[in-house]
Amino acid sequence: MKAIVWTGRNSVEVQNVPDPEMLNARDAIVRVTSTAICGSDLHLVDGYIPTVKKGDILGHEFMGEVVEVGPGVRNLRPGDRVVVPFTISCGACFACEAELYSLCENSNPNAGMAEKLMGHSPAGIFGYSHMLGGFPGGQAEYVRVPFADVGPIKIEDDLPDEKVLFLSDIFPTGFMGAEMCDIKPGQTIAIWGAGPVGQLAAASAFLLGADRVIVIDRFPYRLKRAQRTGAEVLDYEEVNVLDALRDMTGGRGPDACIDAVGMEAHHPTPAMYAYDRTKQAARLETERPYALREAIMACRNGGVVSVIGVYGGLIDKFPMGTVMNRSLTIRAGQCHVQRYMRPLLDRIRSGEIDPSFVISHRMPLNEAPHGFELFKNKMDDCNKVVLTT
Ligand code: NAD
Ligand code: ZN
Ligand code: ZN
Repeated sequence: MKAIVWTGRNSVEVQNVPDPEMLNARDAIVRVTSTAICGSDLHLVDGYIPTVKKGDILGHEFMGEVVEVGPGVRNLRPGDRVVVPFTISCGACFACEAELYSLCENSNPNAGMAEKLMGHSPAGIFGYSHMLGGFPGGQAEYVRVPFADVGPIKIEDDLPDEKVLFLSDIFPTGFMGAEMCDIKPGQTIAIWGAGPVGQLAAASAFLLGADRVIVIDRFPYRLKRAQRTGAEVLDYEEVNVLDALRDMTGGRGPDACIDAVGMEAHHPTPAMYAYDRTKQAARLETERPYALREAIMACRNGGVVSVIGVYGGLIDKFPMGTVMNRSLTIRAGQCHVQRYMRPLLDRIRSGEIDPSFVISHRMPLNEAPHGFELFKNKMDDCNKVVLTT
């Protein structure tokens, strides 16, 4: 089959690879119909997530048609149309019982590798490094889906792929980012990053009752898309973000701040950007955490900082003093996708939201390297790339 393969830093290729095979009774094989490129893939492609190997198949946002199921999968049949969550979860362990699916204790065969870096291991994730299981990803014609009786949800009506594909990741992720803010009526939520995740966090914050949402980025075309959700926007190359947020909130600061940027933040001041970039490039820190630092500084006293941007390892110059002295709460996580898929499918079905508003580019799977180039470099107003087979 054809698959998108990581071939080195900043390099992905379409390659012919062996078809996946069933390994366990609870596996399914899915023929992918639609898949997408995520901001998280960029961290891998750029070489900042440890333990990615040449030849690894990328991709963790995908849906398609079930072609084979093991004897342990009673809820799916060949021919079913499914969306597959990026988190691989057994459904029965301590974490899964608590609906903390991205922390499943049974799905990462390489847990020992993750424990060395993180103390304990999170769940396995499709196409997301060997430390997180070494599972071949979904930017491919076929994928093996472990625990297929738990993760995939059937799409039984005629909703097109585009409307439901993002249930696999970025819609639940944006929603969880907003949910972690514990939004109360009248509150103002600020979001760093007007990428597809930030845009869906903005839409979700409104669904959860936020009064005002302020989205921060530097790409006008992305800020325009964020505005379509009803959000106000700030271009951090035009204004001082901390001053502007203070002015917009009567001096107090936003009630909650969402980091939807992650480990490759850009910095408006060349000196600070160079500092983090140099240290990151030399692997002296794994992150470029500028947006997170700013979100922490901006948040009102006693507020919540909700971190859905991905981090891989160690941060430098972390403002712990402000977190402690101002009673901030930091909440974070890879999305517990399975927890959100059904309720969010209901919201799509009822017409409350259509997450396909984030799509800017559609192309066949074998043009993925071009898609990566556009998405990574923000060329051609690229916001979100959907690949079809
Ligand atoms: P993206 O790269 O398209 O968007 C990131 C945006 O952040 C860009 O528009 C960029 O201009 C902006 N940005 C960079 N530096 C900034 C700064 N200093 N201030 C404000 N904005 C800044 O990525 P995406 O697909 O939207 O994903 C966003 C993040 O969410 C990534 O880190 C991704 O890994 C993460 N993610 C997490 C989960 C999860 O489960 N927690 C799931 C999906 C994606
Ligand atoms: Zn993702
Ligand atoms: Zn589990």
